[in-house]
Amino acid sequence: MGGRRLAVIDRNRCNPKKCGLECMKYCPMVRMGKDAVKVEDGELIVDEELCSGCGMCVRKCPFKAISVVNLPAPVEGEEIHRYGPNGFTLYRIPILRFGNVVGLVGQNGVGKSTALKILSGELKPNLGRVYDEISWDEVVDRFRGSALGEYFKRLVGKEVRVIRKPERIDLLPKVIKGNVRDLLKHADEREVFDEVVESLKLEKILSRDLSQLSGGELQLVAVAAAYERDRDVYIFDEPSNYLDVCQRMRVSKLIRRLSRAERAILVVEHDLAVMDYISDYVHVIYGIPAVYGVVSLPHSSREGINILLEGYLPDDNVRFREEPLLFSGRTIQRRKKEVSKLVYYTKLIKSFEGSFILTVEEGDVGEGEVVVAAGPNGIGKTTLVKMLTGELVPDEGDVFTAGLRISYKKQELRRDYEGSVRMFLREKIPKALKSEYFNTEVMRRLRIDSLMDKELKSLSSGELQRVMITACLGKEADFYVLDEPSAFLDVEMRMAAAKAIRRIMEGEKKAAFVVEHDLIMIEWLADRIVLFRGSPGVEGHAFRPMNIRDGMNEFLKEVDITFRRDPETGRPRVNKPGSKLDELARKTGRYYM
Ligand code: ADP
Ligand code: SF4
Repeated sequence: MGGRRLAVIDRNRCNPKKCGLECMKYCPMVRMGKDAVKVEDGELIVDEELCSGCGMCVRKCPFKAISVVNLPAPVEGEEIHRYGPNGFTLYRIPILRFGNVVGLVGQNGVGKSTALKILSGELKPNLGRVYDEISWDEVVDRFRGSALGEYFKRLVGKEVRVIRKPERIDLLPKVIKGNVRDLLKHADEREVFDEVVESLKLEKILSRDLSQLSGGELQLVAVAAAYERDRDVYIFDEPSNYLDVCQRMRVSKLIRRLSRAERAILVVEHDLAVMDYISDYVHVIYGIPAVYGVVSLPHSSREGINILLEGYLPDDNVRFREEPLLFSGRTIQRRKKEVSKLVYYTKLIKSFEGSFILTVEEGDVGEGEVVVAAGPNGIGKTTLVKMLTGELVPDEGDVFTAGLRISYKKQELRRDYEGSVRMFLREKIPKALKSEYFNTEVMRRLRIDSLMDKELKSLSSGELQRVMITACLGKEADFYVLDEPSAFLDVEMRMAAAKAIRRIMEGEKKAAFVVEHDLIMIEWLADRIVLFRGSPGVEGHAFRPMNIRDGMNEFLKEVDITFRRDPETGRPRVNKPGSKLDELARKTGRYYM
């Protein structure tokens, strides 16, 4: 086993003018007179053929700009694209299937966006040949006789038209002006305006300007606009971000409805319950972020997701993660029997000028406990959070958090900080940075080290989320409140964040209250659940904290989906509506399991 060696240079870090060219100076090959490392036109080049893989340059570079790795699988010759000499390489690409929904799951930074750009014709792949000018004809030729070759041929011949719902929906209002109705009327090539407005419940926001929409609303509008187009290929890049569980299910159903013999649909998604529900086939993508990525063969959605969780890909005989992401038959009632209450609140009422009213049943959060708030958007979760943190005062009732120090991670992620992540964290959590426990349990899990020297402003949404979770957990506090920590994180990071949160709560007299929409993340995190019900934007009701089984059961009943357990991994799976298991679950009233 073991394949080719890759030397990848981070061009944002490498600066041959500022360093002492340590990589070259210490390279044993260079010392022997071979040009394994050289500077060409001001750019550092490592010759992978000559490189012996000793790793000297990796260690000596003052800016940590070089990675040298051996490919774990025999994927040599399967290069789809390489971003220039010593750039990131993508091996293989998902196969679009007309008549099916194909999913792509995997870590951030291993080439999903690159694959999408190639399949949508935005990026002409160079087959890894960075010094040659490759034509589309050569690309078609390279894959001739395969489904992929056929696809590229049609793509080049402009026989397939592609629409892509982008991941960064926050950028939409910057490029499109006007209100929701105009946008959706304009995009409506298939005359499905009424259908989509009804399915995604968009009536109330039709006359709103795009710039006034919340993240969740923008997401729905972006999905709707893509749905309305009359295309051959539909690509949905992370359609569930910012959406509540009901909205996620509505979007999933809508996307499935698109599926026809003459259409191919590709979905990238980190919410595994959504991915499982939405897709017929799944490609797993693995690799090392910013170094290389490998796309697996297509698998059934169940298999593909299990492969991702397991961290082992049988097709390539590669273990791409040391440990599986487990649902180790989770102790349903993890909460210790006798825990003292850290936070306690009586029945609460809060209304906003008669337009929205929230009632909250009495509740508490015990020491060491993680309580998760679950329910639709616009139902009052953030309002309860703000009452718990003291930012809002209830009209009726009391919250007992006197003397508790509170740390609060808000839902929205702000980039308005001048300076590096290191500076930011030194300012926010100087003490935690020195703690061995914190370094092991939080920083290492969330891989903050690799972000330390980046400007906070330049981080991707997922990277920013990791930094904000770290800043929240590192604060010296008793009560930790986190609003949607899973947004923008890949599955690995969701698990890592869940573990980090739990570990910190194991400390003396600490507890957490977390708002979360990802069902699998809820499962990883929660001891108990506060369920919200009502009518979004009008009235909301929060129940007493329930144990996870009852809470999930009620929650799923509300959302109208049923779950079963995957026998192999123990992960919860959404039953397809109308299936035998679905009917059985409904009949017995056991929506969860
Ligand atoms: P994902 O979508 O899975 O997060 P991407 O496809 O965006 O991953 O990127 C994978 C890697 O490719 C990035 O980490 C980056 O190092 C590299 N990359 C992306 N775009 C470019 C580019 N235009 N030039 C050079 N490298 C790039
Ligand atoms: Fe200098 Fe590091 Fe770039 Fe080599 S890789 S030229 S040592 S910055």
